Amino acid sequence: DERIEEITKKIATYPDFPKPGISFKDIFSVLLEPRVFRNLMAVLEERVRRVCPGVQAVVGLESRGFLIGTPLALALDIPFVPIRKKGKLPGKVKQVSYTLEYGTDVFEAQESSIKKGQKVVILDDLLATGGSMKAACDLVTAMGGEVLLCLVCIELLDLKGCEKFSHPFDAVVKF
Ligand code: 5GP
Repeated sequence: DERIEEITKKIATYPDFPKPGISFKDIFSVLLEPRVFRNLMAVLEERVRRVCPGVQAVVGLESRGFLIGTPLALALDIPFVPIRKKGKLPGKVKQVSYTLEYGTDVFEAQESSIKKGQKVVILDDLLATGGSMKAACDLVTAMGGEVLLCLVCIELLDLKGCEKFSHPFDAVVKF
């Protein structure tokens, strides 16, 4: 797919960011070019329509998951549901804590944002260790939602993040 080749070329790599030894992949360089961004959104939409045509909500992970999750939800004409780090969402929330390299973090979703039995796709820009995606799957499931697909723009294959969770997974670009 020529669109994916072009998207791959546009993803910028920053060595030693945010700390030494980490090679940071940056999706914002794709968003700078409307045609390439539109192609990325088209590829994501095609995959969701093919793999899970009955999907009822797009769940996006803070914060780059919002940038691609909202246009995807609009294109599919279904709700967008944000999952955020602790303390940022107003009203009653459901929480899940997950372990990081050092310590733990907490993800939250607004209580009524995911309905019992609702079929969702979870979207993020990048899968590294898979910890964030696993936590999001746990939170959606605890709220009664059904995860049909975990979808990312970029998968870092070396880290084997997709082995952390058992739900169907897809990535547009693999490094
Ligand atoms: P994980 O939980 O899979 O280890 O990390 C994934 C989360 O951290 C994603 O929300 C992603 O935005 C962020 N992240 C980790 N590494 C990178 C990277 O190289 N580039 C970008 N853009 N985000 C990263």
